[in-house]
Amino acid sequence: AAQAATMVSDGAYAGIDRVLWTEAEIAARVSEVAAELTADLRGLRLREPAVFVGVATGAFVFLADLVRRVDAPLAVDLVRAESYGDGTVSSGRPTITSDLKVDVAGKHVVVVEDIVDTGNTVSCLIAHLEKKGASSISVCTFLDKPARRSADFQLVGDGKFYRGFECPDYFVVGYGMDYAEFYRNLPYVGVLKAEMYKKDTSN
Ligand code: 5GP
Ligand code: MG
Ligand code: MG
Repeated sequence: AAQAATMVSDGAYAGIDRVLWTEAEIAARVSEVAAELTADLRGLRLREPAVFVGVATGAFVFLADLVRRVDAPLAVDLVRAESYGDGTVSSGRPTITSDLKVDVAGKHVVVVEDIVDTGNTVSCLIAHLEKKGASSISVCTFLDKPARRSADFQLVGDGKFYRGFECPDYFVVGYGMDYAEFYRNLPYVGVLKAEMYKKDTSN
């Protein structure tokens, strides 16, 4: 397991090599994505409110910012899907370790992710939500790393793919995203200094 590589006295920002998106850039883009979602949800004329399903823990900041800017009735729930452990390389076999509370049968679901990387997690969640009877499934991810996609995922029904930014192939932290559970509280997205983590391919 990784060690907390910074001292509390360093503040939250120690260890960041460079910033990819600032707090202001993120806020502006999240508003745009929320406006698109608002227009689409209204256009669908749903009989029941959409269910926004955040993927814990990484999506919690994006989920909170996003739903407050979507001007349509919606329910919010969380799932936990894990494949990473403490490393920076996905195991490729995500499992759902905490399930939904809201009934999604017959409803429009928007899966809210921090990053779609290989696509394994989103594929697994779509299959899970389909089994629970969701009538349409969209994916709204803060970051998209298309360079690393290996699992093709199919949206369901009227589902659509939304993304905040296309992310270059770096391991990023902040705005909810962690390294070994740290850095989630950074208000921006950054790349860690190489010395802050050692490459771990064991999981
Ligand atoms: P997948 O490979 O299944 O598409 O991605 C699974 C999850 O791995 C993402 O939702 C995200 O939580 C995590 N992940 C992928 N790339 C990064 C990254 O650069 N930084 C962090 N902190 N997590 C990542
Ligand atoms: Mg995630
Ligand atoms: Mg993680």
